[in-house]
Amino acid sequence: MSALVSPRFDLHVHSTASDGLFTPEAVAARAKARGLDGLALTDHDSVAGLAAARRQAAAEDLVFINGVEISVEWQDTPIHIVGLGFDAAHPGLLAGLKTTQDGRLERARRMDAALAAAGIAGTLAGALRHTAHPAQISRAHFARHLVEIGLFADTGKVFEQYLTPGKPGYVPHRWATLAEAVGWIRAAGGVAVVAHPGRYEISSGQMRVFLGEFRDLGGEAIEVSSGSHVPAHMRRFARLARSFGFHASQGSDFHGGAGADLGGFAPLPEDLPPVWRLLNGDVKK
Ligand code: AMP
Ligand code: MN
Ligand code: MN
Ligand code: MN
Repeated sequence: MSALVSPRFDLHVHSTASDGLFTPEAVAARAKARGLDGLALTDHDSVAGLAAARRQAAAEDLVFINGVEISVEWQDTPIHIVGLGFDAAHPGLLAGLKTTQDGRLERARRMDAALAAAGIAGTLAGALRHTAHPAQISRAHFARHLVEIGLFADTGKVFEQYLTPGKPGYVPHRWATLAEAVGWIRAAGGVAVVAHPGRYEISSGQMRVFLGEFRDLGGEAIEVSSGSHVPAHMRRFARLARSFGFHASQGSDFHGGAGADLGGFAPLPEDLPPVWRLLNGDVKK
């Protein structure tokens, strides 16, 4: 792949191994159809889809990079840390992901009770019908259930009215710490990346504190280009990447429904070092 000056890699992608709608194989096939050169599958707190996605990516002649998106709670704010290019069989990483996953079903039971108290009963049973992996149960599955039964027009409305902090169906949850998430990724030989930084509801002062901590822990990159970023986010996080010395990553955050399609993000600014320079050992077929 050395001939590729600026490869079209989508480095933030979900499958049915977490809350995506496409199987890992279907994601890889669609990446090819969308004209990408390669992808990382980054399911929430799970590496279960990587082997199947990697096989299909090889069949499609695509570069494949191991990925994961770890749920973190930082100063009471949910933050997502993407890991790229790690050893997916590393025992420390697998043990850490297992602890994080173990909390999901327990949180879902509390969400079910909170929604029932707000007048919407039976949501856990409904949400579970939207996933083949109960341990991966997500707010997205609750949202799809509530849309399916006709209570809401789209999942965005469910999140807005019921599933975000302060709303009746939102329950606080202890995810991994930032130190744990970055530590697990690095122990497994991977690169830690801040996912969609434009989405966090923290002040710009807190953002700098957060990025400083992330860098001190060994974090090396941030998503400057994301399917959920508007141009102002791109400019802001390109500036912050330069100021902190981070590499830049890019990814659609494809889930298969509404939201960006595979490859749906703007090109990175040319002066920033792209994250795949840190993945040399892994960026091969
Ligand atoms: P969880 O990991 O269970 O907290 O669920 C978070 C997931 O819900 C994210 O990864 C997105 O897929 C989805 N999500 C979060 N916020 C929204 C929103 N405002 N609209 C639609 N989906 C959302
Ligand atoms: Mn998701
Ligand atoms: Mn995320
Ligand atoms: Mn994501």
